[in-house]
Amino acid sequence: MVDISKVKNITVVGAGVMGNGIAQVALMAGFNVILVDVKENIVNNGIAKIKEGLKKVQIKGKLGEGISISNIMSRCRKSIDLSSAVKESDFVFEAVVEKLDIKKQVCDLVMENSPPHCIFASNTSTFRITDIAEDSNKPENVIGMHFFLPVVLQCCVEVMKGEKTTDKALDIGVEIGKRLPCLKGKRLSVRIEKESPGFIANRLLTPPIIYLNWIFDLALEKGIPWEQIDADAEARKLTPMGPCELTDYLGVDTTYNALKSYEKIFSSDFAPGKVLTNLVVEGNLGRKTGRGFYDWTAGKPEIFLNKKAGILNPEITMAIMLNEGCKLLEEKIVSGYKIIDDVMLTGTSMPGPFGPGKRNYIKWSKMLEDFVELSDKKYLKPCELMKSGGFINMRK
Ligand code: NAD
Repeated sequence: MVDISKVKNITVVGAGVMGNGIAQVALMAGFNVILVDVKENIVNNGIAKIKEGLKKVQIKGKLGEGISISNIMSRCRKSIDLSSAVKESDFVFEAVVEKLDIKKQVCDLVMENSPPHCIFASNTSTFRITDIAEDSNKPENVIGMHFFLPVVLQCCVEVMKGEKTTDKALDIGVEIGKRLPCLKGKRLSVRIEKESPGFIANRLLTPPIIYLNWIFDLALEKGIPWEQIDADAEARKLTPMGPCELTDYLGVDTTYNALKSYEKIFSSDFAPGKVLTNLVVEGNLGRKTGRGFYDWTAGKPEIFLNKKAGILNPEITMAIMLNEGCKLLEEKIVSGYKIIDDVMLTGTSMPGPFGPGKRNYIKWSKMLEDFVELSDKKYLKPCELMKSGGFINMRK
């Protein structure tokens, strides 16, 4: 397997919001990058987005002494032919749509056509790395590397093994992660030895959508405007955006696909509700299509948060995250909760649930018991470690 110092050529598959961001930081780190997508216009748009991103870095004075955008872009190529694009790749980041069959096809094709030492890193939000790698000819070289949006600003990357991944492949992923610059500070490249679909962050962030789905559908039934739901979430206090705006920002389909995946892996309670399903069927995927919960056609929508609906309790979302964090500890995905809180803060800019959870776990367990009784969403039942407060002694 290749030595980290010998990783020079990186291919990024998928020129969407994540792929462009990953390609940008890989270029900033000095690697040669090939950006691949299925159509010429998509990949051209990706290249334009990378240039725009670099321009913003330059304006902030953070491009580095004597380094120009054209200098950086001279190391960037584009392709719509994956098989030939990976011929000399040492490392491949996969950031295609969150569909397992597509990710598997991409993984197989990359592993068939790249040099034997090449490592394949999937940016999947929810799938098992083991499943993505299962039909490939080198599952030992397949890892998960999960970035956050925007990649250049959110400093965390979670690096995880599949069942067949070697320690060496994981080590290289962690090292590459550390080398990718982040404008807010040092990149936190987190090593996760045991497989967890959704890594750490999405394991915490996806279960609250069971609750939000229920709220969205209730709001639809009652004719409550979305901005009142965002106002309930005390947007920009607890979280940078309310749940409707955030879903639009991240892509309604991304949330929808994550729920479909968790529905298969964990529980039918994750099935997308009416509101999300309708938005996806109508092609209203949020910011990227110009319409979702809100109208983004004229740029960022103006959202008035002065009137609350009074149906969403943000504390319940924190309680759900604490419960899921405790499940990660019970499953021994991580040995202490500090790393969970660190991932949440550096990946999402939201504090993790354990700080307030230490004071509130009894109240929050009761809240979850009550919500389960009301909604029958049994997946949200508080686990033993949460109810007992036993997690408090597991900081490290
Ligand atoms: P996106 O829809 O913006 O981009 C996906 C791109 O993949 C599209 O340009 C599409 O044309 C391309 N694509 C599809 N099939 C392909 C193929 N066979 N070969 C090459 N390109 C192909 O999606 P995104 O938000 O950038 O998400 C990409 C991945 O990153 C998903 O797995 C998602 O779950 C994950 N992710 C997303 C976020 C987020 O906040 N959006 C955060 C972390 C991880």
